[in-house]
Amino acid sequence: MKVLTLNFLTCAVKTCKASSDSFPLHPKDAELVHDDLEINPQLLVNVLPRLDWTALRTTSTELGFPELPEQPPSAETLEADEAMLKELHNLLVETQMMEGKLVCGHCGHEYAVREGIANFLLPSHLV
Ligand SMILES: [Zn+2]
Repeated sequence: MKVLTLNFLTCAVKTCKASSDSFPLHPKDAELVHDDLEINPQLLVNVLPRLDWTALRTTSTELGFPELPEQPPSAETLEADEAMLKELHNLLVETQMMEGKLVCGHCGHEYAVREGIANFLLPSHLV
């Protein structure tokens, strides 16, 4: 799954819904794969306002990427800043997490990721 997707995933455990610690999920033992894809500046400009930037900064650092600026770049800045455009394209679009786990910071539940797909089925005692 793309790093972009991690920005939209939260823990499925009921008691975690209300906790801010359940988002973002924390990658663990992550195996990343890089796909070379053509850069689409408009896609990034469109997706940026939908992202939780603070969560993305956390995910980015946890995956070993360079630290992102504290504030998201504006559309104008992004269109003019090729280095930032490339960095976000690399992080959000080209990087896939293929194997590993996603860990909830609230309940500690670990969701397995295999072949790029996260398993969000919960054991019955947690549903
Ligand atoms: Zn949880």
